[in-house]
Amino acid sequence: STLADGLTRSVEAVGDTLTAPFQPASLRLGVTGLSRAGKTVFITSLVANLLDRGRMPGLQGAANGAIQAAYLQPQPDDTVPRFDYEAHLGALTSAAPKWPDSTSSISQLRVSLKVQPRGLLGGLSGPKTVHLDIVDYPGEWLLDLALLDKSYSQWSAEVLERIENRASAEAFLQTVLNADVTAKIQEPAAQALARAFTQYLHQARKDGFYDCTPGRFILPGDLAGSPALTFAPLPKTDAPRRSLYREMERRFEAYKSRVVKPFFRDHFAKIDRQVVLVDALGAIHKGPQAVEDMRTALADILGAFRPGKNAFLSQIFLGKRVEKILFAATKADHLHHTQHPQLTGIMQALIREARDRAQFAGATTQAMSMAALRATVEQTLDHDGRSLNCVRGTLLNTGKEAAFYPGDLPEDPNHLLGPARDGAAAWLDQDYQVMSFAPSVLNLQPGNGPPHIRLDRAAEFLIGDRLT
Ligand code: GDP
Repeated sequence: STLADGLTRSVEAVGDTLTAPFQPASLRLGVTGLSRAGKTVFITSLVANLLDRGRMPGLQGAANGAIQAAYLQPQPDDTVPRFDYEAHLGALTSAAPKWPDSTSSISQLRVSLKVQPRGLLGGLSGPKTVHLDIVDYPGEWLLDLALLDKSYSQWSAEVLERIENRASAEAFLQTVLNADVTAKIQEPAAQALARAFTQYLHQARKDGFYDCTPGRFILPGDLAGSPALTFAPLPKTDAPRRSLYREMERRFEAYKSRVVKPFFRDHFAKIDRQVVLVDALGAIHKGPQAVEDMRTALADILGAFRPGKNAFLSQIFLGKRVEKILFAATKADHLHHTQHPQLTGIMQALIREARDRAQFAGATTQAMSMAALRATVEQTLDHDGRSLNCVRGTLLNTGKEAAFYPGDLPEDPNHLLGPARDGAAAWLDQDYQVMSFAPSVLNLQPGNGPPHIRLDRAAEFLIGDRLT
């Protein structure tokens, strides 16, 4: 039987080679979103569900059996770190489940799917192999696109004006005041400024500001400590050559040409389909300023998908384009399903402005709310004669089970966004604050992927057309 197996395999291999010229061999799916949006959990659960085709009724190719096999393969890009799928799945599926480590840099994973096309014509052709290359990268890196059009003095002026009155920027602004920017560059002075600016950026993110460029300051990847990441905004001065100011200016330019451009050229420009994950509930809970700021950051991120608007992008895209973009509000398992339509509505409204400005250069787009890993169950409780639609889960900090009612999202997203928004109103109850759920213990049977909400719909929109 080993011989027979071997023969079948080589026949399959020949079949693949024969049909190969008629179909693009691979499909690149970009997964992005600002830090903690849910990228790692999304990819881990998507891959686990694809490999087992367990809970994917909404993915046509899985439901009708067209996908005959799915397996991991070495990725084609030798110098990109591999997405650590096994470690992440291990964390989620251990006896004491933990959330996996979040995305801090770019990584990649290849899932190959053997697909037998269905239908009258499908039966005539042999199975085809679709290589799905999933590319995980921080959304913060996309925000850097805006830097390409700016000089150091322009960027500095904008940043300094924006943060002038922010309490979190006080220490950094003091460091700027103390710095002798016209003196000859001393590395410790440059490092002190970069460190203070990075600390400010981290605090700003915690406070709900999303305008946090340069993106690598928050997520440096393997560039941590390099000169290209050791600069900070300074007020414009007439400084001599080799001064602190002029060196900062040079490093800013190096950041643009050696860090930002290569990322867009080598990775971003090759993406065929894209999902942008958004922790909309987190921002809503932080309040109106955070929502507004996130909307602006999203508009900036979306700018990267309109290559016509940017000379550098047009040049590297060479007429190619991202075919489909999905905008997904993550962690929808924090809400009872009766509130999911509101969350989707908010997601739609968040991207509307950017979408109206240009139809993403012809890409098909969709907005949805989902949970890549469902950590809760629904429960309706009686409260003062009123029934409350709650979610129940295990709390991360205490390990205790509890049911929560996080409050109502507004029916009309305009109450959250735009000029008609409800002043400083808090939109999600205080309860939302304590709703940090641990992943539940999963007793996955063979052929059963992790539980989720609409992950299969997300997959159908993004890659379904290539899997039937
Ligand atoms: P990344 O920074 O974009 O890679 O974000 P992660 O995937 O690491 O997710 C950040 C955190 O969000 C996780 O540690 C979880 O606490 C939470 N999270 C992500 N996805 C889900 C989900 O589907 N449901 C719930 N309840 N929490 C999630």
